Amino acid sequence: MLTGGFLFQDTKEHKRFGKPVRQTFAIADGHCQFCGNDCLRIVGEGITMCPSCSKQRHVTSLTKRFVYVRKKRIDDHILTIGVSLTHTQHHAAESIMHYLALKEDVIVRAVCGAGKTEIVMPAIFASLKSNLTVGYIVPRIAIAKQLKKRFNDAFPQTSIGFLAGGETHLDKQSFIVVILQRLWHFTHEFDLLIVDESDAFPLKGNPYYKRLIQRSLTDRGRCVFMSATGQKEMVTHPKRNTTMIDVNRRYHGHALDVPAYVRVGKLDKRLNGFDLPDRVRHFIDDCLMRNYPLFLFVPTKRSGWALNRLLNDYGYASWFISAESDDKERVFKHGWEVIVTTTVLERGVTFTDLWVGVMMADHPVFDSDTLVQIAGRVGRKATAPHGRILFFAKTLSRAMDDAMTDIRQTNKEKSDAL
Ligand SMILES: [Zn+2]
Repeated sequence: MLTGGFLFQDTKEHKRFGKPVRQTFAIADGHCQFCGNDCLRIVGEGITMCPSCSKQRHVTSLTKRFVYVRKKRIDDHILTIGVSLTHTQHHAAESIMHYLALKEDVIVRAVCGAGKTEIVMPAIFASLKSNLTVGYIVPRIAIAKQLKKRFNDAFPQTSIGFLAGGETHLDKQSFIVVILQRLWHFTHEFDLLIVDESDAFPLKGNPYYKRLIQRSLTDRGRCVFMSATGQKEMVTHPKRNTTMIDVNRRYHGHALDVPAYVRVGKLDKRLNGFDLPDRVRHFIDDCLMRNYPLFLFVPTKRSGWALNRLLNDYGYASWFISAESDDKERVFKHGWEVIVTTTVLERGVTFTDLWVGVMMADHPVFDSDTLVQIAGRVGRKATAPHGRILFFAKTLSRAMDDAMTDIRQTNKEKSDAL
């Protein structure tokens, strides 16, 4: 049986964790020992490599793998959630703990703005109090940093580990925030693993990360998967029972705004030809007149640059953000009126009074889950629970229609439950 541990490819962690308890080659018995992959590639005489791991680092049959066992510190944990939980949140939090106690995995399907993180905090707290090890996985570095701050406030007496990007703050902590891409460090380590944004890139449809999640759990370990959209590609374990919990109400109790479809033909061509359609311009002016911030989502970087240039020419204070922008936080601090963005900002950002437009909303990049997420950026604050979401497109795509139906259905379930 494997013992729990923290994995490294070299010995430089000796100082921090003492001697490794085990040292093996990274590829043994026909499997990659980091990720469990058995589809290996031959790269030399008697040498194989793991193609799954290779996206992040080079792992061959000559690579060493060291397993360290961390001594855990005992903190005197307390939980102070700044805003007390609403009735709906409280009910969801109790349900999660109930099913975890029954040794089941839990899927939390919560509408955007339901306060997912707060809902799962009582389960984290209960596990820490029982001296269990908890991991919280997120898909992006910026979100990891935000969450770490929120957890520091909510658990003021708990030392929290952090692995994201180039940062590794880890010694004896029992609660660790880790970015999905660095989960390969852990084997049989977590008794409770919270997988946030479990329907998002890069976890969505990716067997490599699904294997890492299962390998990072202890034998008694359980997962809570959280997302705002349909769990069409769930990552649950075939041998464990899974319960789905729906949280159809935003923490402030208001319904979700349903996007409206605005027909605009040849939008892509017109943006490239420096022609801002009247219907788009009126929407922008209407928003800015109220002094509200505006996000305009675009399907491609090319269309993003074109729209941003056009808006600047029209005199709007606009910035373009894509996955390659490494200065997002700086941009947000600038005076801006409009942010043009790819789907990179579909999650993890909250602005009061935000309105949202989706340009070329019938483009295949915008599947229904993505459109629901984008719509969920609006009305997240209790002081400003509503806003406007417009889908600008030549045709009403199936995904657009599904997204609008999905949001209407969620609102209906919410009002039926009242
Ligand atoms: Zn591998």
